[in-house]
Amino acid sequence: MTKRTGRRRFTQLAASFFSIIVFLFLVGSAVFLLLTHPKSPLPDHWNPLRDLSITAPVSLVTRFQLNRALADKAQCKAVLSADEVTFAEMEDLVVDQNCGISGRGLLSRLATADVRGVETRCTTALRLAMWEHHVVQPAARDILGTEARALRHLGSYNCRRMRTAQGQDSRWSSHATADSIDIVGVDLADGRTVNLLRDWSAGGPEAEFLRRIGRGACDWFRVVLSPNFNKLHADHFHLQGPGWGYCR
Ligand SMILES: [Zn+2]
Repeated sequence: MTKRTGRRRFTQLAASFFSIIVFLFLVGSAVFLLLTHPKSPLPDHWNPLRDLSITAPVSLVTRFQLNRALADKAQCKAVLSADEVTFAEMEDLVVDQNCGISGRGLLSRLATADVRGVETRCTTALRLAMWEHHVVQPAARDILGTEARALRHLGSYNCRRMRTAQGQDSRWSSHATADSIDIVGVDLADGRTVNLLRDWSAGGPEAEFLRRIGRGACDWFRVVLSPNFNKLHADHFHLQGPGWGYCR
């Protein structure tokens, strides 16, 4: 290689390196503007920097937005009130190291359906609201031709140890921190009621509806136990926020 071709190669390399830097800078600026500009054409539900909206369509960014809201009490409450979920704030319940409710409130209405007043934590209310809007309502419309008017439950907070088919376990239940809620059925807008004990194994559209909302709960809760799991769950879905990802 002569000295001249060597120099030309070097100039070419430097030029392409420079073009790459300019290109990356332009792409970076465009992405930054897209994410941060108040008049950005990017919808909020596609923008990881924007807060979660319960009623917005689900996108690839929704999980990220949800995790942020779950990790921050104030943001969790703000997300609920932005979509008119009724969650009356209460003082945190401090019992001992096993029992208590952090981010406590009285939940009485989700984005569309009612729920009989239940003391729970914001994270449980938020997961439940996502499930109601994105799973329960669409399933009620598609399979039963109506809307869900109210979710029936057996409560959320209960300072107790876990129950298993063999009896009591030494570990504490996720209900002891209101990280779970037990759902027994759904009241429909046309006056019908669907409940797990009667309809889960009865066949027909009610059973199909319950199976679909049970499966769909796994998108919004980490642990979901249905009548398929054991006899203790014959009459309810156990919907649990934290956990190891178990859906049965
Ligand atoms: Zn439970």
